[in-house]
Amino acid sequence: MAVPAHDDRDYDFAKKYDLEINAVIKPFDGEAEVGQAYTEVGELFNSGEFDGMNSKKSQYNIIKYFEENKIGKKTTNYKLKDWGVSRQRYWGAPIPFIHCDDCGLVMEKKENLPVALPEDVEITGEGNPLDNHPTWKHCKCSQCGKDAIRETDTMDTFVESSWYFLRFCASQENWEKEAFSSEQIKYWMGVDHYIGGIEHAVLHLLYARFFTKVFRDLGYLDFDEPFDNLLTQGMVLKDGSKMSKSKGNTVDPDEIIAKYGADTARLFILFAAPPTQELEWNDSGVEGAYKFIKRFFDRSSNIVACESIPIINHAALSKEEKFARKKVYEALVRANEVYNERHTFNTMIAGVMEAMNALNVQENSDVWSEGYWILASIMEPVIPHVSYEISEKYFGLNNLNPQAVLDEVFVEESITLGVSINGKRRTEIEVATDASQEEIISVAKAAASKWLEGMSIVKEIVVPKKLVNIVVKG
Ligand SMILES: [Zn+2]
Repeated sequence: MAVPAHDDRDYDFAKKYDLEINAVIKPFDGEAEVGQAYTEVGELFNSGEFDGMNSKKSQYNIIKYFEENKIGKKTTNYKLKDWGVSRQRYWGAPIPFIHCDDCGLVMEKKENLPVALPEDVEITGEGNPLDNHPTWKHCKCSQCGKDAIRETDTMDTFVESSWYFLRFCASQENWEKEAFSSEQIKYWMGVDHYIGGIEHAVLHLLYARFFTKVFRDLGYLDFDEPFDNLLTQGMVLKDGSKMSKSKGNTVDPDEIIAKYGADTARLFILFAAPPTQELEWNDSGVEGAYKFIKRFFDRSSNIVACESIPIINHAALSKEEKFARKKVYEALVRANEVYNERHTFNTMIAGVMEAMNALNVQENSDVWSEGYWILASIMEPVIPHVSYEISEKYFGLNNLNPQAVLDEVFVEESITLGVSINGKRRTEIEVATDASQEEIISVAKAAASKWLEGMSIVKEIVVPKKLVNIVVKG
């Protein structure tokens, strides 16, 4: 990099060949290093107009200066090197080449593609199973037709994993002729949400992007990036350590499914932690998830079946009903955010649980049915079996998808204000949000009457949306 004062290898090189070493970065609160490279972020000096700046943060300004003065420009360097893609394994796509004594290395004929793996292979743990197969590798040369030997190496899995998603979109298409231009690929690609382990976050994704760009450059694809979003999920822990077969601390999902059902397993996993974080397996959490589902289902039995979401006159509802609706619609707003962007399913489920508790209203009312309509819709991807059961029974499945969020539900009709006497908080009052100053003072005086007895009022102060202070003297 030719920065001997700030890179250890450059420093050693400069020392060995007796080159000049010009330091330009020093510690924020100290002197420039002597006798070694200073490789940390620090303060620029000997740097003209950039003196005093943070060496990291100034990078943008320095590049801008170079570009403006036409003495350099920003670029990205990839440290990719050629890499053998062949492996001596059975499980991989055969490399379609043929070794001929006369013609050398030749490609298999197009009409013979794809080269299929033999199914009667013997896996002995010794050598390459394809090479050991008695007949598979013997073939005819694609050029001269003489007896020849097929390549027995297969491609490493990272080759296939770099473009398998294209095949997933169009698995029925004739691959050679139509797959790349397939309507299916146009429809499905790019991948909206790619979910995978953190171990794939660098190499696999880099290769997949690389392949996509090559296909694009060849004119096969008309998009540039294969994946729009990446979510790397956390590990599942048991008793504080990673679940693994070798540790013997795995949980068998079949047992949980047999005892509680698949919905419980799904709800527990999604509720226990955001998907990007580690999840500690917890048997009592599983039990809790089961109890919630049971309650959710039991309480659904009083829904009045309806063909469309009930139309409700919000203003005419009781205080409890208004609160219940507010909580249900809050859960819906959060669900829209979580499914579309945040993916913190645990917070969404918490919102649904809160709404269930708030839905403490007449069980066969419209508010109850509307609440269940919305909550069952939200929960359908989480607990699909139970949600489907409720929806099918009461709502008619075609209409489930409450997108509309009602503003009227969120309008606060009343507000709580503190009441202070001579600056000391004594009580609080609830008034309509549009109450006048006179109304507020009169309600406050009534509420604070016992502290006002025998006093003369000097002044009343209303701090909007906060409090009323009454100044008195005895
Ligand atoms: Zn040949």
